[in-house]
Amino acid sequence: MKKFVFAAVVLVCAATLDASAQTVYASDKGEKYHTADCNLSGDANDMTLTAAKKAGKKACAVCKPESHFKDKTVRCAGKTADGTRCKRMTSSKGGRCYQHKSA
Ligand SMILES: [Zn+2]
Ligand SMILES: [Zn+2]
Repeated sequence: MKKFVFAAVVLVCAATLDASAQTVYASDKGEKYHTADCNLSGDANDMTLTAAKKAGKKACAVCKPESHFKDKTVRCAGKTADGTRCKRMTSSKGGRCYQHKSA
């Protein structure tokens, strides 16, 4: 039983470390932090999730940065034929969905 508890603690610590390295975007005056592609991030600067939290900023309710980090998916960086950003979410390393992988 003790072993199990130890393993659980290690897992939680690893997850916390991982989250602290995540980059979010927030402007100096903004109260919220965003993902890179959020429409509301505006003139945001990039910072770590930890720094944003320390500065008292809260997760944007539109782009939900933390849910991105949790499932490790990002919005595809590719563009669709009409020039708008692809809306597909992807967990692939290149940050592009299967359709835009080679683009
Ligand atoms: Zn946002
Ligand atoms: Zn795509």
